[in-house]
Amino acid sequence: MIKCNYHTHTVLCDGKDTAEELVLEAIEKGFKVLGFSAHSPLSGEDWCLMPDTKEYRKTISELKEKYKDKIEILCGIEQDYYSEKEEGFDFVIGSVHCVKVGDKLIAVDDKAQIVIDAINEHFQGDSDSFAKEYFRTVSDVVNNTGADIIGHLDLIEKFCEQVSIFNPDSEVYKKASEEAVQELCSTGALFEINTGAMARGLRTTPYPSKRLLKLIHTCGGDVIINSDCHDKRYLDYGFEEALALAKECGFERIAYLSKGKIEFAEI
Ligand SMILES: [Zn+2]
Ligand SMILES: [Zn+2]
Repeated sequence: MIKCNYHTHTVLCDGKDTAEELVLEAIEKGFKVLGFSAHSPLSGEDWCLMPDTKEYRKTISELKEKYKDKIEILCGIEQDYYSEKEEGFDFVIGSVHCVKVGDKLIAVDDKAQIVIDAINEHFQGDSDSFAKEYFRTVSDVVNNTGADIIGHLDLIEKFCEQVSIFNPDSEVYKKASEEAVQELCSTGALFEINTGAMARGLRTTPYPSKRLLKLIHTCGGDVIINSDCHDKRYLDYGFEEALALAKECGFERIAYLSKGKIEFAEI
């Protein structure tokens, strides 16, 4: 497979390594393209770029030049649904990390207990209602962020191999998630197969679930493989499994971005 990753975090947001350490790792691993995707600034959130994107843009642009003969480097952004939009990145990953209740943002991927408490406090203990609100937001993520890539589609499943919070087989959950896929397929944005939670030891399979991946394929959507890397050791973690999963779900090609265009590699 052509080795690329477009979902990469550095010390400038919540990653462990500097951008240059990640570039060197990617070169070592024989990557064709490395796309950085810092978390867009979100007021009061220390896992995001702070206070703005200036230092990040400058850092990546210098590395692009320095390593241009060795690897193609892209300066993207992981645009959170609730942060302000900014133009001028090589690509945009649109992600929903929170569910909004009133003026409060509830993180869906921080700790399982936060999600459980929120379901009890704001959704009368009904996890389906929480899931419905999450997928309603996700269905609007391309429209709202201008995303080229849809990030970790069913992120609310992050802790579900450890603790049962949602029931993906319930009628409400199925309908909400499937409607989101159908809506998003009509935008033409790429869906990412994200191995991030596998690298953290939380999941044994990537996002999205097999059921949703099959639906994406049926609806004519395309996929791209990303590691959501926060640690250079895991830059291509689970890529073989992700590829096998894509094949199993019916995909015959994987997308990658290069020189400002979407390309496809047969699988
Ligand atoms: Zn994310
Ligand atoms: Zn990320």
